[in-house]
Amino acid sequence: MKKILISSCLAGEKVRYNGSDRKINHPLINKWDKEGRLILACPEILGGLSTPRPSAEIINGSGLDALNKHSKITDINHNDLTKEFIDGAEKTLEIIKEHNIDIAIMAERSPSCGSCKIYDGTFSGKLIHGEGVTTALLRKNGVTIYNENQLDDIKE
Ligand code: SF4
Repeated sequence: MKKILISSCLAGEKVRYNGSDRKINHPLINKWDKEGRLILACPEILGGLSTPRPSAEIINGSGLDALNKHSKITDINHNDLTKEFIDGAEKTLEIIKEHNIDIAIMAERSPSCGSCKIYDGTFSGKLIHGEGVTTALLRKNGVTIYNENQLDDIKE
């Protein structure tokens, strides 16, 4: 059975910037967990950041813009974290390749893992349409991304 990548925070790991998780309780996730198919990854931790950490957003763009060096990621204190975010995305892609994964469940709104919506880079809580850096890199490499609100759409 094929493995499935999941954002660590959705699987209950307390790796979010504020030290919390976003654990989801869904029959499909519980089934995959029992089958031993879930591979957990937190791109920001893989990129060298620690928990807790200041919140971060993509400035003037989306994940693909950051990958193409057209926008950057900073934390709320204006520290440039673009390298750490891209490193984390690349390490997540290595995991994907190692396990031959083609589906990932990624936490919505994150500057790494978001797939439909991200914050707009003003640290004001405003959401825009866009994707995080890791999601952009995984999509570029053919991975199908679902967020935690789309689990009912997955046909197994
Ligand atoms: Fe969760 Fe992704 Fe943020 Fe890590 S980078 S805390 S996995 S949303």
